[in-house]
Amino acid sequence: MSTREKLYEGKAKVVYAGDHADELILHFKDDTSAFDGEKLAQLARKGEVNNAFNAFIMEYLQEAGVPTHFLRRSGAQESVVQRLEMIPVECVIRNRAAGSLCRRLGIEEGRVLEPPVLEFFLKNDALHDPLINRSHIRSFAWATAEEVEAMTRWTERVNVLLVDLFARAGLILVDFKLEFGRFQGDLRLGDEFSPDGCRLWDAQSLEKMDKDRFRRDLGGVVEAYLEVARRIGVPLAS
Ligand code: ADP
Ligand code: UDP
Repeated sequence: MSTREKLYEGKAKVVYAGDHADELILHFKDDTSAFDGEKLAQLARKGEVNNAFNAFIMEYLQEAGVPTHFLRRSGAQESVVQRLEMIPVECVIRNRAAGSLCRRLGIEEGRVLEPPVLEFFLKNDALHDPLINRSHIRSFAWATAEEVEAMTRWTERVNVLLVDLFARAGLILVDFKLEFGRFQGDLRLGDEFSPDGCRLWDAQSLEKMDKDRFRRDLGGVVEAYLEVARRIGVPLAS
């Protein structure tokens, strides 16, 4: 394990070379960050919980026909994925107003967005992940017009699938972020889906069950992630 080649260390994961040239190992860290890495903490079990959560969601999406990079879980905190050429664009879809949308447009938190709002952000911490549009993506060749269409279509499809999955568990999927990449020229969903990259509210109490607990110092961060995992059926010891 210790001899494998570390390719990249991000805020939430370490990326290692896999056993095959076209595979990578994603190691989910216990580190948690917010505000472009300005707020940092270590949360016991977060890596294990997010790895199991992500595996469950990626397999669920794969079974529903969404092309993903996910291959298999290979340890408590790690999974094997296809090595993608990542597109440096974050695709965010929102069913309710929250976070930066509220700050940017003065919308009250919780307002239902019908149809859901889709936004693109440039993945660049130094620039604080600025909001961009299709025209920027094409002019700067971050992705082709066809890829933008496909990212839009898959983000909307994932939203339909996951809104339903979480609703059945008594949870509102408020918003989430996806990242895509290319594998042998084909678009695939990459990175992760976990409560670090989405907002989930209890449908009755509207209690926040996601990374906003960390951003807002509400406490019980991993406990909330575990509760969401339990409700949707992720196999994890509580
Ligand atoms: P960040 O880079 O934002 O701090 P992470 O700590 O989660 O995020 O690091 C994981 C990195 O791995 C991200 O930059 C992500 O874009 C990249 N990544 C995720 N999945 C793949 C993949 N299948 N192939 C190549 N890179 C990937
Ligand atoms: N998000 C993310 N990574 C980012 C930026 C946003 O996972 O670098 C997720 C975030 O957790 C939320 C959604 O994308 O579920 C929308 O985030 P927003 O634009 O509201 O930004 P925030 O206020 O959360 O920084």
